[in-house]
Amino acid sequence: MNIDYKIHDIFPQITVGRDFREMTAETFIIISNEIVYGIFSKKYPGFPCRRLFYLNDNTFEEIEPLLAEIKTMDGPILAIGGGAVIDAAKYIAHETGKSLVVVPGAVTTDAFLTPVSVIKNTRTRVEEVCRAKKPDRVYFDMDILEGAPVRYNVAGLGDVISMYTAAYDWRLAHQKTGEPFDPLLAEMAMGLVKSLEPAAAEIAKNSPTGIKHIIDALTAEFFIYNLAGGNRPEVGSEHLFARLFEENHIGNFLHGEIVALGVLLMTYFQGRDFRWIRMLIGGLGINYKPQTLGIPTADLIRLTASLNRYVQERNLRYTVLNQCLLTEQDVKQGLREVLGE
Ligand SMILES: [Zn+2]
Repeated sequence: MNIDYKIHDIFPQITVGRDFREMTAETFIIISNEIVYGIFSKKYPGFPCRRLFYLNDNTFEEIEPLLAEIKTMDGPILAIGGGAVIDAAKYIAHETGKSLVVVPGAVTTDAFLTPVSVIKNTRTRVEEVCRAKKPDRVYFDMDILEGAPVRYNVAGLGDVISMYTAAYDWRLAHQKTGEPFDPLLAEMAMGLVKSLEPAAAEIAKNSPTGIKHIIDALTAEFFIYNLAGGNRPEVGSEHLFARLFEENHIGNFLHGEIVALGVLLMTYFQGRDFRWIRMLIGGLGINYKPQTLGIPTADLIRLTASLNRYVQERNLRYTVLNQCLLTEQDVKQGLREVLGE
């Protein structure tokens, strides 16, 4: 393990509270969306700002005009919203060199921690991963987070439970290909997933304790990511599965939800007992059933059975998908078992 002890270089300054004004009295350029800003401004009537920009989607078409205007303005940026708003603000802060404060509208992703942004290119329909600025400060306003739909908050844990299959794939890759592997980090990753079990009831209730646990789990996940120097402990076959559906625009789901379905299915194809992880995913209240994710059964079977080819053609990282050849029959059988249908 290669530990970088400069923790403050890794994390933004994180505050959990109920009054954003206790953090700062600065006047910001605000980037938000109408729904979350409506909630924010109701709580903080008359909140001063230099300018308010609404963003509907994190596409280059929407972001570039904002960037051009913000470049000419003075003052720090405040992003109030979900992953799309945060990603856009991180990109703009990177391009303008401005300081950035984030108030997440929900804890659906770990976007509040990371120095990259995913921005959509509507022409190519590709989501591009761009260099961005890690937020300087993050304020978790518990009133806002408790008011967010529980579905959005619990979906953030998709990228934590993904460690259950990804850490296993990592070990497999080491055994089969000699890829460098860190057993301690793999254990930490597994331990983090297990730590969710006693907190599951609070998390599923969207209680303050539960939300705090999600924030802690996402922060710990990002810490392990940094210790590993990359996403190997959290991105394995379950993410390759998820990416295939995201790239093909099949279904209507949050990232963490399709990842959760991937974790369940890949645990099965890894030849492991899937009952504990299924109980955990269900207990956390993560939406993972294909019907609720809007994925037709025929597409689910067809795409999952094409995963081996997808991985080979793109020469993706080694996972269980390199050694377990999936026919449509295998997929049908796997789905029947893990979904209990
Ligand atoms: Zn992910």
